[in-house]
Amino acid sequence: MEQNVSFDKFNLHPKLLKALSEAGYTEPTEVQFKTIMKVAEGLDIRASAQTGTGKTAAFLLPALNQLTKPQEKHSKLPRVLILAPTRELAIQIESQVDKYAKYLPNIKKACIYGGVPYHKQLRSLSRQCDLLIATPGRLIDLLLQGKVNLSRIEMFVLDEADRMLDMGFVEPVNQIAAATPKKRQTLLFSATLEGTVTQFSNQLMRDPVDIVVHGKQAKHENIKQNLHYVDDIEHKNRLLDHLLAEDNVDNAIVFTSTKRHADKLVGELYDKGFSTAALHGDMSQRQRTRTIAQLRSGKIKVLVATDVAARGIDVQSITHVFNFDLPRNIEDYVHRIGRTGRAGAKGTALSFASNRDNVLVKKIQDFTGQKMDVVVVPGFEPSKKQRPAPSRQKPRPQFGNRKPGSGKPRSKPGSFSKPAGFGKSRGKPGGKPSGKPGGKPSARPPRKQAGQQRRRGK
Ligand code: ADP
Ligand code: MG
Repeated sequence: MEQNVSFDKFNLHPKLLKALSEAGYTEPTEVQFKTIMKVAEGLDIRASAQTGTGKTAAFLLPALNQLTKPQEKHSKLPRVLILAPTRELAIQIESQVDKYAKYLPNIKKACIYGGVPYHKQLRSLSRQCDLLIATPGRLIDLLLQGKVNLSRIEMFVLDEADRMLDMGFVEPVNQIAAATPKKRQTLLFSATLEGTVTQFSNQLMRDPVDIVVHGKQAKHENIKQNLHYVDDIEHKNRLLDHLLAEDNVDNAIVFTSTKRHADKLVGELYDKGFSTAALHGDMSQRQRTRTIAQLRSGKIKVLVATDVAARGIDVQSITHVFNFDLPRNIEDYVHRIGRTGRAGAKGTALSFASNRDNVLVKKIQDFTGQKMDVVVVPGFEPSKKQRPAPSRQKPRPQFGNRKPGSGKPRSKPGSFSKPAGFGKSRGKPGGKPSGKPGGKPSARPPRKQAGQQRRRGK
């Protein structure tokens, strides 16, 4: 990275540095560099950088570092509060805490979110708890029951604040903030710092410093963005089967616009021999956690997801993101494609669009400042003449400028330009179902899940 510094210069606790070096983090990302310096000065910070740029460590490292220092007056109550919009994200943050605080066993944490029983969470709150990660709903719930005391909070972090607003958490967040001391330090992270996020945060923060990162990684230049024109749903299905069976697809997430359609698509892909599962808001927390674990372990090759459920998924083996349906909310496009190309790896995002979607495609391109490459796979040409989506931007080179040391290189960058061999995968759609090169026999989803997965919508 440009700053060319290591983590050493931040005066972090040696045990944090040890964990970072074990995690393979050689240098801070840009948002980490800028944020960690300012947090140490005790300032309120509003930071925006796109997904996959390491925002979690940008707040966790200074937070954990603060927890290595003794309190003015000892208490068992939480000193750092991190709010996340979804359960998945809360769990994701918790696992990063485990990674960074590996050698700091005296720092105790709790992670509370809805959809699961209370007793375990209550138990972790009744003991010493220095760092509390929570989703707003469950936290309010416990606040009202008098089970959480936020009077000792020194640092209040709002992660994915834009999403928090989209999900209607303004009131709960204000209520939670009101239960913390006024003299706390407040940090806010968001993919964007626009309009409502700024207004909303002005009430919560004292003279915040804005950190806006437009780095190369933030521009997703490590993610190849392709656009496939399609005629209809049948065309989409055929093309998806074909592309999923390509050699270079290790793990893929397919985004659909509705939960029902996600379930239906899972059923269809399953019948064609793909190891697949759905991830959406109608599933219990246990099912969602298990599904993500199966994706991570390689048991599931194709995850079919809706936007909210896929937030915060951080699985490095995801090589491809398919926008089977384009997102209705343009910012979701950035969150979706950010599920691949994690930690500087290369990834491919493929969007399916019809001629009617041209306005939406243009809006997405204007928002990202990048043009998608229109790709036609031989044998899957759209029948209608497609006008390429107009854009003000010139296409940018892709796959350039990967940051050195920012992640493991992908062995096989996505490319669908070679002749597709139409018919090969149609005749034998399950030909390559589990997709792990040199891997074990195809992983069918476990029985219990299959029942749930194969439930047909409509
Ligand atoms: P964001 O919140 O900005 O979407 P995350 O905090 O989830 O991004 O980080 C994305 C990925 O980058 C994670 O897998 C994380 O472990 C990794 N990562 C974060 N910081 C570094 C770093 N300095 N060096 C290498 N990898 C990093
Ligand atoms: Mg994040």
